[in-house]
Amino acid sequence: MTSKALTRLIQPPGRIESGESYFYPEPGKRIDVMALSEEEVRRLRGNLIAYVYQDPNAALDPLYTVGYQIAETMKVHGKVKSIKEGVKKAVEVLAQVFMPDSEARVKAYPHELSGGMKQRSVIGMEISNKPKLLIADEPTTALDVSVQAQILNLLKDLQRERALTYLFISHDLEVVRYMSDYIAVMYLGKIAEFGPAEEVFEKPMHPYTEALLSSIPIPDPKLAKKVKRIILKGEPPSPLNPPSGCRFRTRCPLAFDKCLEEPPLEEA
Ligand code: SF4
Repeated sequence: MTSKALTRLIQPPGRIESGESYFYPEPGKRIDVMALSEEEVRRLRGNLIAYVYQDPNAALDPLYTVGYQIAETMKVHGKVKSIKEGVKKAVEVLAQVFMPDSEARVKAYPHELSGGMKQRSVIGMEISNKPKLLIADEPTTALDVSVQAQILNLLKDLQRERALTYLFISHDLEVVRYMSDYIAVMYLGKIAEFGPAEEVFEKPMHPYTEALLSSIPIPDPKLAKKVKRIILKGEPPSPLNPPSGCRFRTRCPLAFDKCLEEPPLEEA
């Protein structure tokens, strides 16, 4: 929801009540996303910001070949003049995401591809417009574990080659550690802690982050016995009606009177 709100993708009856969103496509250039017209924000999303979601089946149309769908995306955003030209380029795009036999796959329909190939096609489609920011929302959750690693490595390679910035959303903490330079830990829709990835993992400041990190499974049973797991009590409150003050106070093992006031997000 937060990533959608940042790029104004919230559909009615949802709405953005308040807040700001700025996008910096290059040094010294700032775009106030909330001040853009509908047409401008649509162009921003198509050209500079791309999205990869959890389920590639939802992103691909089962009635068209992946080559056609990549070509259509490129044509809509003015990168090619015709679908024919786009399909030719789609072979290159699929090769860039290491699709095996991209010449043949360009003619494949989504149901003819494996889950990993479908996600590669979606990533190819999204990067075909050369965006600056890729919002990846649980991009590997729907995939087999072996394919997950391939897709994560692909995303890392593309980031290096194309100087892409990622907003990577995941509940898998090991994946988060592998992919991130900075981490924002969210609880009930608000950032509880933000910092460089290694610092957040090595020296968590927020009790919620500590509890999350203590839940990471440790394969070595001897080591696992030495680590203290923090079990949070109670159910998470409804985000529609969050607790007053600190949102975490109803489950925080350190809560005290002052937690009835909302704590600011402060630099450590
Ligand atoms: S409940 Fe209080 S101690 Fe716990 S995280 Fe919130 S502000 Fe900090």
